Amino acid sequence: MRHDVTFPLYVEVDEIFNLACPASPIHYQHDPVQTTKTSVHGAINMLGLAKRVRAKILQASTSEVYGDPAIHPQIEEYWGNVNAIGPRSCYDEGKRCAETLFFDYHRQHQLRIKVARIFNTYGPRMHPNDGRVVSNFIMQALHGEPITIYGDGRQTRSFCYVDDLIDGLMALMTSDDEVTGPINIGNGAELTMIELAEAIIDLCRSSSRIEYRALPQDDPKQRRPDIAKARRLLNWSPKVSLRQGLTRTIAYFEELIARRERV
Ligand code: UDP
Ligand code: UDP
Repeated sequence: MRHDVTFPLYVEVDEIFNLACPASPIHYQHDPVQTTKTSVHGAINMLGLAKRVRAKILQASTSEVYGDPAIHPQIEEYWGNVNAIGPRSCYDEGKRCAETLFFDYHRQHQLRIKVARIFNTYGPRMHPNDGRVVSNFIMQALHGEPITIYGDGRQTRSFCYVDDLIDGLMALMTSDDEVTGPINIGNGAELTMIELAEAIIDLCRSSSRIEYRALPQDDPKQRRPDIAKARRLLNWSPKVSLRQGLTRTIAYFEELIARRERV
């Protein structure tokens, strides 16, 4: 079924995975009011549903709750450094408020909750125009177009392959009821955007050159998850290296481009 979580939903279910919300900056900033509504009204409706049918409910939270982090790597106990009124706030504060709602429904209504803080994730079936860095760089490299680095490219991210992320979410959902999170799910291998661009140019055997563009406002300077908690409580850690993951993702986009050229 298709449903907009900002409206009530009456169904009979055992488990809810609430992943509703665009996650790419260009998409969530396109209609920021709707982005906040999706996270906040969406969480209220899904928690109301979970309460009525006594379902277990998982929230896809985000490393964005840490904002531009002053603690590195990010541990779950860190409260974050978030701008309340900037262009990223609709996403960051929406997701933070959703976490608040999850913990209040847990304390007030004894709901079984699971809050995962998802760090940068990539992989096959991303939209070619998703706008996030991995798909942008791969599409640019495969087309021989300039690789667009925002800012000086020394900002860091840590990228998790999608299959590892899904394994982490499933492990969290099936964990003991005491395990509520929040719990970081991500890959600890951190690199700069220059290093990412070079890796993708190399793996695509591309002749693209690097082009520098303006850095978006409030772009976090560094990001890497501390995943000790996920290792300990979920016995989970990522298995796919960046090179393996990028190779599979590049193969997916190559096939997508070839298919488009055939029609
Ligand atoms: N809700 C829903 N599906 C349900 C139960 C509730 O979508 O099966 C929505 C409902 O519209 C409400 C929200 O979830 O606005 C919060 O529900 P809750 O029972 O916590 O609050 P209340 O209805 O008491 O305001
Ligand atoms: N970025 C970039 N070029 C692009 C897209 C993104 O240099 O074409 C940078 C962006 O400024 C940020 C990092 O790559 O520092 C990750 O951006 P993304 O939008 O993928 O996710 P974020 O972690 O910022 O939510």
